[in-house]
Parts: sequence; C-alpha cells; structure tokens
Amino acid sequence: MTRMLTEDSRQIPVCADVDVAVCGGGPAGVGAALAAARMGASVILLESQLCLGGQATSGMMNRLGPYHDQQTIILRGIPWEVVETLVRWEAAHLPAPCPHDDPDRYWVPFDPEALKVLLDDMVEQAGVEVLLQTVVTDVVMQGNEVHGVIVENKSGRQAVLARRIVDGTGDADVAARAGAPCGKGRETDGLMQPIGLLSKVHNLDSARARAYTAAHYAELVDEARRLRSANGIAPDRVHPGTDNLLREDETYFNASHAHGMDGTNARDITEAAIGARREIWRNLLFMKERVPGWEGASLAATASLLGVRETRCIRGEYALTLDDVLEGRDFDDGICRYACWIDTHGVVPGEKPEHEGRALEPGVSYAIPFRSLVPKQVENLLVAGRCFSGTHEARASARMIPACMAMGQAAGTAAALSVREGVPPRELPVGLLREHLLSQGVVL
Ligand SMILES: Cc1cc2nc3c(=O)[nH]c(=O)nc-3n(C[C@H](O)[C@H](O)[C@H](O)COP(=O)(O)OP(=O)(O)OC[C@H]3O[C@@H](n4cnc5c(N)ncnc54)[C@H](O)[C@@H]3O)c2cc1C
Repeated sequence: MTRMLTEDSRQIPVCADVDVAVCGGGPAGVGAALAAARMGASVILLESQLCLGGQATSGMMNRLGPYHDQQTIILRGIPWEVVETLVRWEAAHLPAPCPHDDPDRYWVPFDPEALKVLLDDMVEQAGVEVLLQTVVTDVVMQGNEVHGVIVENKSGRQAVLARRIVDGTGDADVAARAGAPCGKGRETDGLMQPIGLLSKVHNLDSARARAYTAAHYAELVDEARRLRSANGIAPDRVHPGTDNLLREDETYFNASHAHGMDGTNARDITEAAIGARREIWRNLLFMKERVPGWEGASLAATASLLGVRETRCIRGEYALTLDDVLEGRDFDDGICRYACWIDTHGVVPGEKPEHEGRALEPGVSYAIPFRSLVPKQVENLLVAGRCFSGTHEARASARMIPACMAMGQAAGTAAALSVREGVPPRELPVGLLREHLLSQGVVL
C-alpha cells in the first residue's frame, strides 16, 4: 500500500489564459499548436524537454516514417511542409514512393538537429507561445470538463487556463489525469512494446563493419555471451547499426530493447535509461575491439529522451483496429491517411508478434477517424499522437512521426474550430473540420 501525504492547498499564479493549450511538443503537439494558431486561436505549447520535436529530436529518431502508400504520397499538410523544408535545407532526403521491403528508400532520413531549429521557426511564425522545460503535472477540472492544466518549471508551479486542451504527451498524461478512460499496451495482457534508446556513432566504416558483422554474426553473439558471463562487460545484443543515409560518417543505432517496462513509471524509466546507456557503451567497446571498420569510431551522442514506443492510449469514441489498417478502411470522419506497416516489436523477449512487419498492399492506405482523437467522458480535450485510440497493432502502424503530426494538425484545427463555433470538440460537425483540413492541403 502506497503511503500518502495530503498536500496543503495553496494559491498559484495563472501564467497564461488561452484558447488552446497544447501539452507536449512532440510531432503531434507541434502539429496541433501550429494548426490551432494558424486558425487564429491563441495557443500555448508546453514541453518538458529543452526543444520541440519529441522522439523525432530529443529521441534522435533520424528517419521519418513513410509519407506514401508504396505508390503515391498520401500525407501532406504540416508534416509535408516540414519534410519539404528539411529537404531544402539539405537536412533530409525524400526518396520516391517505393515498396515497403526496400528499407533504404521506404523511410525519410533527416537531421534531428535541423528539425529542432525548423520547429522553433515554424511555431514562432505562427504566433504560438512556447514554454520549454515545463512539465504538465495536473489538470484544472470543473465536473467532467478540463479548463486548464497545472505546470511546473523553473518559475515554479503555475496554472494555464484554456478553452480547449490538446494532449500530445505521447503518454496521454493529461487525459489520464482528467479521468478519461485509458488502456495500456496490448489488449490481452497490458504488456507494452519494449523501450529503446537511440545513439549515434561517428567515424564508423559502416560498409566494412556491416559486411563483417553479417558474415560473423553468430560468432560475435557467442563471444559477447561468453564475455558477459565471464566479466559482465559485453553487450546483450550485437547490432550492425542503421545508416542514416543522409551523411556517410553518421550511423544511428536503435539497438537496446528493455522489456517489461512502463514508460509512465519513473523507476522503470530510470532503469531503462541507465541500462541502455551502459549497453550502448559496452557495444562500442566490444565492436571496436573485434569488428573491422569500428577502429576509429566514437560515440557521438545518446538520445536525451528514452525511446518509449507505447504506454497509455485513450479509450476514444472509436478505436482503430488492425483490420481497419490492413484493409485500408475509410471513415466519414477521417482526418488523415496513413499506410505504414505494423511496426510491433515483441513485448516478451524472443517473441515474434503475429502481425509484426505486415504491410498493406501497395496503393492501399487507411483513414484515421476524428473519433479516435476524442476521449470518452471528458470534455474540452482532444488527444493526438501515439496515444490516440486504437488497438495495440493499429497504433503500431500509426505511431510514426508524420502520422502523429497529421493527427496533431487535425486536433489543433478541431480545437480552434470548436472554440470559434462554441461547441464541444465531440460535437464539432466533422464536415466542417474536413473542409478546413482539405483547405490546408491535407489528403483525406
Ligand atoms: C525506438 C523507437 C524508434 C522509432 N523509429 C521511428 C522511425 O524510424 N520513424 C518514425 O517516423 N517514427 C519512429 N518512431 C515512432 C515515433 O518516434 C513516435 O511514435 C512519435 O514521435 C510519437 O509522437 P508524439 O508526438 O505522439 O509523442 P512524442 O514524440 O513522444 O512527443 C511527446 C512530447 O511530449 C512531451 N511530454 C510528455 N509528457 C509531458 C508532460 N507531462 N508535460 C510536458 N511535456 C510532456 C515529451 O517530452 C515529448 O516531447 C520510433 C519510436 C521509438 C520509441
């Protein structure tokens, strides 16, 4: 039984009073803030890290998920603006649509540092107020309506009042605090996808290293296992690395997999981060010693945000399913389209999920319905990004960065429109929302 302490009630300053407060400045949150501000709403964006972009920047996810259905581009709007600008800045490479089994061309390699600057520019131009290193810790409720959030930052504990709130925390932190029904992980047992930590290595001769690792993989794994039981200082997994394909001298690693962890539990987060950094360092030492091509390599960076793939998701007015995804279903209230394959990773070590890597047919894409962004029971709140309402497998497809940004664009547009129309988001006429999204260039 957890020991409890009653906090003294106290007065705290109201640091903002806006139309739309967006919590979490990841792909979904940035999409939402930009869309709402461009609709003329006053917007504040609250982000706990020191930059915008979430997993895309702080998490160092250096490849944007696909923008295409293996034949044509299906994702435009704000995520498309982002990638076009990155390409212009020579900070991304956008290959033509291609089959899903061509990994070197399926994804969009980009520079996370450039994205940080671009997102700062975009929100500034849209007139969004941003507070960095600001954690949303609680909600201001009147009955089942959210009227604001409580934040903590260097200025102390303060309130942000808002007509509408968009939860872009990835973990549905706001929805959960507001009492909206949420689930976690897969439906059968609540287990969540494993947690990773991205790292970047410089000066790796990756062609040579990859060829050697592929040819001697079993031998290297055996040796690592032997060393680990002898002195505990070898890596758990041997990973050849993923070339970013943007620059020759940068190789990104997405190699650590912490199972059985909950990315909303502070102790699990701490254990996963420390374990992953240790593993990355051991991998470096091991590879430098044994694999040709690694001699001059050095560890350039580890991500400042843990690679959490899945935690809470809201129970919304509709839950997107695996069949919806694979069959490319349309919905009358669709707010964007997506088509990535089912990117699940075994929730139990060694387990291969039944649908892992299953791809949609070329030319097929599915719609994400607005109802999947609307939580049950709680008013004035929309949720966008990887914690939207869907099953474990459906979310494994739609959790990619561009899709989360597109969901954010829809949530931000809906939030601003619902203030303008004086209706709760749940009752917003979806035809009106879709008209606005179409006028913003979104493909429906
Ligand atoms: C290991 C791994 C590899 C991946 N690889 C790819 C890939 O190659 N390509 C791809 O497109 N996608 C990839 N993804 C998926 C993608 O990165 C995420 O699903 C996507 O970024 C989710 O966007 P989001 O905005 O919903 O959440 P996030 O990116 O998690 O952003 C949430 C933001 O909210 C902030 N936040 C959280 N809680 C609070 C709070 N209480 N108060 C204030 N701020 C808060 C966080 O700091 C963060 O900035 C990968 C994910 C992982 C974990």
